[in-house]
Amino acid sequence: MARLDPPKAHDPRWRKFFGFDAVKWAHERLAAGESARLGIMGGTFDPVHFGHLHCAERVREACGLDMVLFMPTFIPNFKQGKVCADALDRLAMCRLAVAGNLAFCASDRELARGRVTYTVDTLRELRDELPEGTQVVFILGADSLASIMRWREAESLPVLAEYAAVTRPGYEVSPDLLERLGEAGFKVTLVEAAGLDVSSTEVRERLAEGRSARYLVPDSVLRYVESRSLYKECQPTLRAQDEAPSAQDALSAEFFEARKAELAKRVSPKRFAHVMGVVDMCERLACAYGVDVPTARLAGLLHDWDKGLDDEGIWERAANLGLDEVLDPWVFANMPQVLHAHTAAVALSREFPQIPREVIQAVDRHTVGDENMTPLEMVLYCADCLEEGRQFGDIPELRKLVGQVSLDELFFRVYEFWALMLLSRRNQLHPVTMNVWNALIAKRQLRREEND
Ligand code: ATP
Ligand code: MG
Repeated sequence: MARLDPPKAHDPRWRKFFGFDAVKWAHERLAAGESARLGIMGGTFDPVHFGHLHCAERVREACGLDMVLFMPTFIPNFKQGKVCADALDRLAMCRLAVAGNLAFCASDRELARGRVTYTVDTLRELRDELPEGTQVVFILGADSLASIMRWREAESLPVLAEYAAVTRPGYEVSPDLLERLGEAGFKVTLVEAAGLDVSSTEVRERLAEGRSARYLVPDSVLRYVESRSLYKECQPTLRAQDEAPSAQDALSAEFFEARKAELAKRVSPKRFAHVMGVVDMCERLACAYGVDVPTARLAGLLHDWDKGLDDEGIWERAANLGLDEVLDPWVFANMPQVLHAHTAAVALSREFPQIPREVIQAVDRHTVGDENMTPLEMVLYCADCLEEGRQFGDIPELRKLVGQVSLDELFFRVYEFWALMLLSRRNQLHPVTMNVWNALIAKRQLRREEND
């Protein structure tokens, strides 16, 4: 029987920007006979700075961690009212800061809850969800270690994780503290590191006073701070919990109409007509193949969100979003025509956090596809090609297949058509095309054998 490879660990680019599924990651590693040692770096990250990155990297090394998650808290327990930047900005900055390190990821797990978060709840949730065999190490600086006994349900913390504390200038970890923690059952590794004397407080003060924070904070984060005009003065701007929009809002008619009106201003009339054709085709395909219709329509509406930009414009936008640091440099330099999918996905997820993640991922994958496309992603990909306004080549014939063949087969045929067209036009091919093609062939063979 033909062998189908298990789904690969997440595309690092996706992981960087749209969150990381720690549970899936752990399952995959354990199934492959690898270790799954997961570090959790909690904090306000207001903003993230080199002290945090340094601390995480030293622990990763000392404790042999396979992955470190930077997890900003929604509203920090001891800091309510003192926070300057919006939760989503803090998350976005973490994503930029970890972009260059494949062993680091940002996680929206605490933010996604949308309420005051305690470490004990997060660790308990992770324990419940992670497969047995995953080791969780909670990372903190020396200052935080000193207060851990005062955290909520401190008595439950020792069984939920191990702890790794990094020395921090200005804070001492006394043998007495370590002894008391040991008596309380905590397993603590003290990582002695050359201290980086930097704090978010200092960074905020510098920025508010118009002084430089370079080399205290990654450049990409500083660019973000500037583009969002953060820390000009320190004001609490956290979104009230009950105002936080939900995924349901994003699937409402109001949200659709508001984005449609915006899109009409972002793209040419011709492009707008194409997009509305894709929306209709998404609906038709969703009905034919049992995909949620409002979700598919929204994906159709948003897929060309950034298509109004020319090459220069799209490069600039991609760089401003930090994509130049995570995309394949060759693709970035040579294929501006595919960048709009990635910029749209990143920008939309930041501006409208209520948009369901599956929609964002479908937008992200609508140009080159992926080896493991979800039904929604295949619907959008096919709709983009098969909308009624497109008449060239085999498209009218392919359109007749809707509902006649399975969604997998339709996607295969549409992908094949595009790939052949690109070759016949002697265009460059995105390097991922080959992987997608090979996966499609393997899946098709498997379908055939199952039918035999
Ligand atoms: P603030 O000044 O707003 O308190 P901070 O710089 O302390 O910010 P936090 O987000 O509070 O940053 O810290 C998150 C975690 O990172 C904590 O466990 C903290 O102890 C640790 N940490 C922060 N800065 C350093 C540093 N320079 N060295 C070692 N650990 C650090
Ligand atoms: Mg602090």
